[in-house]
Amino acid sequence: MAYVISDSCIACGTCIDECPVSAISEGDIYSIDADACVECGSCADACPNGAISLP
Ligand code: SF4
Repeated sequence: MAYVISDSCIACGTCIDECPVSAISEGDIYSIDADACVECGSCADACPNGAISLP
């Protein structure tokens, strides 16, 4: 199971620098590569909008 980014994402970019495996991609809403995510939770802790969680 990988973390997912909801439509609450404001594309601020905070999470990208937190991911140890570079699983997060930029976009209008950012996204997480489910195959690369190691479920560390670093991005979820960093998101200022609470947009990242486990499904
Ligand atoms: Fe990257 Fe960890 Fe977030 Fe997965 S949970 S996308 S490994 S920072």
